[in-house]
Amino acid sequence: MLDWRQKLLRCLCLLVFTSPLVALASNNAVLKQVKVNTATQNDTQLTLNLTEPAKYQWFFLQNPNRLVLDFQQTDNQASLNNLPLTNNTIVTKIRAGTRAQDGLRLVLDLNQPASILVTSLPPTSQYAERLIIDLSARANNNAVITTPKPATYQATPLMATPASIKPVISLPSHVPPRKLVVVIDPGHGGKDPGASGPGGVHEKDVVLAISRDLYKLLQNQPGITVYMTRYGDYYIGLRQRLQIARRDKADIFIAIHADAYKDSYSTGASVFALSVRGASSEAARWLAEKENYSELGGVDLNGKNDTLRSVLIDLSQTATISSSLWLGGDVLSQISRISPLHKDKVEQAPFVVLKSPDIASILVETGFISNPSEERALSNAAYQQKMALAIESGINQYFKQHPPSSA
Ligand SMILES: [Zn+2]
Repeated sequence: MLDWRQKLLRCLCLLVFTSPLVALASNNAVLKQVKVNTATQNDTQLTLNLTEPAKYQWFFLQNPNRLVLDFQQTDNQASLNNLPLTNNTIVTKIRAGTRAQDGLRLVLDLNQPASILVTSLPPTSQYAERLIIDLSARANNNAVITTPKPATYQATPLMATPASIKPVISLPSHVPPRKLVVVIDPGHGGKDPGASGPGGVHEKDVVLAISRDLYKLLQNQPGITVYMTRYGDYYIGLRQRLQIARRDKADIFIAIHADAYKDSYSTGASVFALSVRGASSEAARWLAEKENYSELGGVDLNGKNDTLRSVLIDLSQTATISSSLWLGGDVLSQISRISPLHKDKVEQAPFVVLKSPDIASILVETGFISNPSEERALSNAAYQQKMALAIESGINQYFKQHPPSSA
């Protein structure tokens, strides 16, 4: 009998303890370049190019509105004087200063309140860290769900809130049909090879191949928009993967992995959804880091008190885990047609990449790379395609039975 916790530990220790924001660079990072990609009254997108990964955090200040980005152990060599910013763009000016202990502080002057999304681009030979900062004008404080998911958002508890709290959910009267968004997350990548088989096959390569097949299959479906968290062999942190799913407004998130165990006999595919324990630790994070988690599936959490925030997050998580279990069941039943199963029901575990409180998310272990015959199968192009087809069928089955409204 396999103890699943041990098994998880092997593959996932790496996942759980790899934080995208922590870098142990011995030299200071240098901010070499700040580029303004777009700057309008409502949106400004910047690229920050750094020589090393740097630990950073951000927060907003009011009166006047500013975004402050603090980088640890970072020097500035970027020129900030001739950026194409004006009094009419949401970011009107960027200033740099030094912080205690080798730090760099960037202050972005804003002409109105904004929301922020920070994502990363793959490193280049020149820049080890490339941050994309998206600032958007925050609509009015009464958030509107632009992509309602009735299973996830139930307005009932909000009705019971004191009259002093404005209702936050108002459904648009007409919602144009939209495409369903699938985000595929090929596990590991770059410096993180994942598990390796006895024949030397790396998990990061086979999961990318299967993900690419799945990407192409879904791209051919007119009602679906599909993205991947990584398109090549480069490293992305776990939290960045979640951010990408949020940025792309995913309806579902599919992480693709391959399993490994210390013996060579373990076989079969398995599918995971988030455990309740993982959900509650994420809820605590959302409550603690208000600046970073200000929006939940279109609902603006800014200005909501802790009780209301936790009700919203909890409601959303409960519904999302149940959607994820449905999705996982549909995918598992399709995979069972082409592969033995390691476990015949969807398992639950506190994987970081499954923690989006408002996006149905599953992790597919496509087989055991530590088993010689499954290692061969997983590195075979025809088998990869079969696996991708099975996952696609499971996704289609799920969407047919659980269509998000407006889609
Ligand atoms: Zn893995």
